[in-house]
Parts: sequence; structure tokens; C-alpha cells
Amino acid sequence: MFNLILFGPPGSGKGTQSERLISKYGLKHLSTGDLLRSEIAGQTPLGMAARSYMDKGQLVPDEVVIEMISSALDNNPQANGFLFDGFPRTNAQAEALDKLLTQKGTEIAIVLALQVSQKELVKRLLNRGLTSGRSDDVDEEIISARIAEYEMKTAAVADHYKKYDKVVYVKGEGTIDEIFDALSDEIDSRKTA
Ligand code: ADP
Repeated sequence: MFNLILFGPPGSGKGTQSERLISKYGLKHLSTGDLLRSEIAGQTPLGMAARSYMDKGQLVPDEVVIEMISSALDNNPQANGFLFDGFPRTNAQAEALDKLLTQKGTEIAIVLALQVSQKELVKRLLNRGLTSGRSDDVDEEIISARIAEYEMKTAAVADHYKKYDKVVYVKGEGTIDEIFDALSDEIDSRKTA
């Protein structure tokens, strides 16, 4: 199994690059943002509870997303590996993920961290808001709240994986192809190492 985390602030291109990486490497895509949005669309109790946080640009409580990821891992026993996108977003989530993977006899191979300037992030998110139908992309205040949550709670997740020498920074600006090639090079070098 080859498991990776695609890491970076909101708007750094995790969704776009994830789509390509899963098809190149045959991984199962686990995006907590997508999973939460589908719970909201299905009007489940979990979705209803998550929505109030998401609408404010705040993180959904750890136990909710951890439980969601735990079920997703159990529901995909034949996967070759997982690409985690938007998860883990706190140190508690990172520790829970490590534990879940250990129970399955596997681990995170690499954390690919996309780096994008703050100015570019806001520009991309507002632009995405024009077409994505995501209410959290339209309002500049909600966008700023999401970036602040990232800086306050999520950036530290990189430090957790740095302890195990698993973090590689990749420039998240440039063409989609350039970024994809840079990410692929890093995966290839870890896969054969
Ligand atoms: P983006 O990375 O563009 O901000 P996502 O689709 O990953 O968007 O997430 C949208 C929202 O869903 C977040 O702002 C947050 O409220 C919630 N969310 C997603 N993943 C998590 C997570 N792992 N922990 C807590 N909240 C999450």
C-alpha cells in the first residue's frame, strides 16, 4: 500500500491535483471536504451538524471527521493506497490517522505540501466561487476565516510528519501540468526508494 497526504491551504490546488494523482497511481481519493458536502447533500444528521461550521469557515469537530475517515478506510479494503485530501487538518486528526493506518498494517509514505502565496489563494478561491456553487467560496470573510483556521490549526500538522521526515514541499504556483510533474517526481522517488 502507498498512502499519501496532499497538504496545503484552502485554494492550493489539492482537489485538482488529487484527481490526476489518483488516476496515475491507482489510489483511492479520500477528501473530507467532499465527504462532508455529500453528507450535507444527503441531509444526514452528520451533514446537518457539519454545515454550521463549514458555513462559518471553521473546522468541523475532530471526532466527526475522524469517524468519517475510519468508515471510509473500512469500506475500501481492496484499495492499493489512499490519497488523503483536506485531512488531517489538526494534530489530533493526524494522530488518529496514524493509529488507524497502523491497525491496518500500513502508514503514510509521504506528505506533499503545496506552497502558494496568500494573495494567490484568495484570488483563486473567489474565482472558484463564481462557478463552484460552494457558498464558502463566495464571501471574502469566510475565505479569510478558512485561511486563518489553516494557519492556527492545520499548518502544525506538517510539523507532526516532519518528525518522521515525511514532508516534501512543492511549489503550488505555475501550470497544472508543471505542478503535477513536480508532485509525480516526488512520489516516484519515494516509491522506488
Ligand atoms: P478547502 O480545502 O478548499 O478549504 P475543503 O473542501 O477541503 O475545502 O473543506 C471545506 C470545509 O469542510 C472546511 O472549511 C471545513 O469546515 C470542513 N472540513 C473539511 N475537512 C475537514 C477536516 N479534516 N477537519 C475539520 N473540518 C474539515
